[in-house]
This record gives sequence, structure tokens and C-alpha cells, in this order.
Amino acid sequence: MLSMEQLSQMLQRHLGLTNNANELQYSSKSKWIIMESPLGGRGLFATEDISSGEVLFVDHPLVYGPRSGTIIQRGCTVCNILNTNNLFKCYKCSLLLCSESCQNNSVHYNDCRVISGWHNKVPIEEVDDELLSRALTAIRALILNEDQKQFMTSLQAHVLPQHGTEIKDLQQYFEIPTEDEQFMILASCVLDANAFQIATSYERKEMGKRGLYPVSSLMNHHCVPNTRYNYNSDLQMIVKAVKPIRAGSEIFTCYTGLLWGTPARRIHLYKTKHFFCKCERCADPTERGTLLAALKCFSSECPGSLLPIEPLKSSSTWRCLECGLRVPCDNICTLQSALGSLMGSLDFGNVEELENFFLTRVTKYIPKTNQIVVDLQCRLIWKLGEVNGLSWHELSESRLALKEKLCRGTLRTTAALGAGDAHLRGLLLYHLHAALAERARRSPDLYEELKSEIESTIDQAYNILQGDISAPPDLELRRRYLGPGCDKSQEERFFILDKKKNFVTCTQ
Ligand SMILES: [Zn+2]
Ligand SMILES: [Zn+2]
Ligand SMILES: [Zn+2]
Ligand SMILES: [Zn+2]
Repeated sequence: MLSMEQLSQMLQRHLGLTNNANELQYSSKSKWIIMESPLGGRGLFATEDISSGEVLFVDHPLVYGPRSGTIIQRGCTVCNILNTNNLFKCYKCSLLLCSESCQNNSVHYNDCRVISGWHNKVPIEEVDDELLSRALTAIRALILNEDQKQFMTSLQAHVLPQHGTEIKDLQQYFEIPTEDEQFMILASCVLDANAFQIATSYERKEMGKRGLYPVSSLMNHHCVPNTRYNYNSDLQMIVKAVKPIRAGSEIFTCYTGLLWGTPARRIHLYKTKHFFCKCERCADPTERGTLLAALKCFSSECPGSLLPIEPLKSSSTWRCLECGLRVPCDNICTLQSALGSLMGSLDFGNVEELENFFLTRVTKYIPKTNQIVVDLQCRLIWKLGEVNGLSWHELSESRLALKEKLCRGTLRTTAALGAGDAHLRGLLLYHLHAALAERARRSPDLYEELKSEIESTIDQAYNILQGDISAPPDLELRRRYLGPGCDKSQEERFFILDKKKNFVTCTQ
């Protein structure tokens, strides 16, 4: 085990490689250190006051590659493109590839050298390419240098037997030297404990990637984190404060969905990270008044909501806020799993079905504040105005009004949670802006009235989402034309909405 001092030095060396002129470089300027955390283990702590929006650090992956989950989409192991008809197995290593240029890429050269170096027990074309893909990120850890390997193994690892099975399963196909196998299993356990899912560009369909970002992995979890992160096209992870962080406070990230209710977050954290969160949000049955986990009272006359009495206990009895009715946790679990199956039966690609379910059916079973409703709300927001058949020009007045209303409602929920300038807030502001701008385009008379909100929403969205590979592609253009300080005439400013598609293609 490395001492805190040795680990700090390794982190500094690691970050020293990041010399992105636009971002803060790790130097004496960095405003945090690693220390023992009261939560157990290590954590990052602010050494000075940090303001909202400030870059804390820019991390880059020690290793990255496909995700290891059992539900994996087949894709090229170099460029990650999904399921095209062109996918083929490399004749030397059996990894999936999409093209000659991916086959000749240095990434594949390294992967291929390792795998084809193992003696295969079956003809190479019979090796399961999905298994190989799931194991690939850990395989890539073999080519790290000794320093990097030591760095990697100094990070926390999950030791339960379900971690590393994808490596053990490789034995059916290959004779792998014991030392390599042991190291890959360890790498897999470190990855499962620490890797981040890497975001992909807006609307690009590709195989899910994960990366081991060593500095980021030292951030502990909080259900209302004080940072957000985004990726740029070089796979760098940029971590910024979403609210002011006082000197001495711990710096947190969030390993779950922000808008999930407490039971869902706690189960997820337990299953994937093997701990139960006890933060203030988890301890507060109402989750700062958002009632994200609330269920309808079982008494048919009562309009009240049920919430766990002791949310930090998974076996807690639930109680109605209105009539005080108590419901044992078993009944709650049955209802939750029924709701889960109901959601599983929905076709999320079908906007009409989604909308119909959202507007008429779902609130018969659960309160409007429940995370399922909030999740549907977000799915509708992302689609209205954006998808074929429901593009801005085709959107009915009522759907336009619905989009605006949903944006405002979800923004209120994130604000109530105290989420600060979270990534989600940036997206919601972008969509609210787009809905308002569309309203003003349709009724130019309304422009003066809406102008300040159209400008401020895109400006705030831009500040949160700029430089993010997953940000909407017209973010910058909208800010230039419809944001504050644009000196163009009203017609010219809205011209961009009519010509948006063309503009986007020529400015890219
Ligand atoms: Zn490819
Ligand atoms: Zn190969
Ligand atoms: Zn929590
Ligand atoms: Zn009740």
C-alpha cells in the first residue's frame, strides 16, 4: 500500500501529463489535497475556497475500453461504432473491428499483440468476441508501465467474487500466464470499483466505454455532489465545482442518477460499490422536499404520499404524510417491483406512447413527484422538438407548452435538491431556452417579453455545458445568436432557427 505522500506524488506526475492550455494545470495552484475522509478511505479536500464553475483538475485515463457488463452491444473495439454489418473478427486475436483502418490503428496493434501472444486452446475464430470485448479494458492494463501499474493497484479494488469473472472465463479459450491473469483480475476489480462511464458525442451511437481516471476515482460519493464532470474529444475528464466549496470541505462526485429517489440510489450504490450512503439527503425522508421516492397512500380516500420513516434502514416501515397510515416495507417492495416491470414494458423510443403514459396513466399509480414521473418528464423533454416527426417546426402548440412546463418543473426539482450548476441543470436550461426561442419565432410580438429569459437561459446553459463532448451541437451557435450581447436584428437572430440544420453542418 502506498503512503498518502507517495500517492500524492503519483497523482501529480499523472496530472503533469495534462497540459491543456485552456484548462487549469496541476501545479502549486491546485486547490485540493488527498486526505483521510471521515467516510473511510481517502478523499479529496479543498485547501482554499473554490468558486462555482472553477476547474478543479483535468484527469485522463490510465486505461480505457469497452464496459464489462454482461449486457454488451457489439461494436468495433477501436472506434466503438455499433453493430454495423461491417464488423469482422481479427484473424489473429478475434477482437471485433469495423474497418481496415481500425485494424491498422495502434490501439489494435497493442491489443492484438497481447492477445495473440497467448496460446489459444480453440481455433481463434471460435473465441467469443463479446467476452473478449468485456475483458478488453483489463487486458489493456497489461501494457501499462511499472509505475502506472503500481499506481493502478494503489487504488481501491472490489474483492467480491463477481468481479473479474470475465477474466477467469477467458481460460476456456487461452492459456494465460498466471501472473498476467492475476494482474488482469486485479485490474478488473480496480476498474469495477473506480471506472467512470465515458460520455459519447451528442447523438452518436457507440458502444459504452469506461475509463480509469485516477484522480477522479479518489472523490467520494455524495447524493448532492459539489462537482460535475464532462469529457472532451481527447477523453480528458474535466472536473468543475457546481457551487462554492469552502476550504476544508470534502470534494464529492455522484455515482448514481441525481434524480433517483433514496431507495433506488442506495440499492444501486450497494450493488455496484458495496456501501450504503448515509448523506444528509439519504437521511431526509422527503429528500429536501422533492418527494422523489414517494408512493401514493394505500388508503383510497387519502391524497397523501408514503415515505420511509427511517430512510437509512432498507427495512423501514413507510408512513403517509397526510393520514399517518403505516405500510410495511414488504408491501412497498412488491409495489416497487410491479412499477419496475410496468416501466420495463414501455417503448421509450415511441414518443406518443411515452406522452400518453405520462399524461394519463402513470399518475394513477404514483405521485407526480416520484422519480419515475420525473424520469419520463426528462425523456419527453429530450425528445420534444428534437426527433423526427416532432421537430420544432412540426411541434403542436400544446406540446411546445408541455415542453416548457416540464423543463421548469424539473429545474425546480434540481434546485430544491441544491444541485447547483449540475450537468443536468445545463441541459434543462438549454431545452427551456429552445422552447422559449421557438415560441418567440412563432409569435415575434412576444419576443420583447421573452427576450431576457431566452438570453439568460442559453447563457447559463453554455457556461455549464461548454467544452462537453455530449453537449447539443448548436449550443455555441444559439448562444452567439440568441444569447446576451448579440447586436443582430431580431429577424437575423431567429434566422438561425430556420436554418439551424444547415448552419450546424457548415460550422462543424
Ligand atoms: Zn472501427
Ligand atoms: Zn488482432
Ligand atoms: Zn446519500
Ligand atoms: Zn394517507
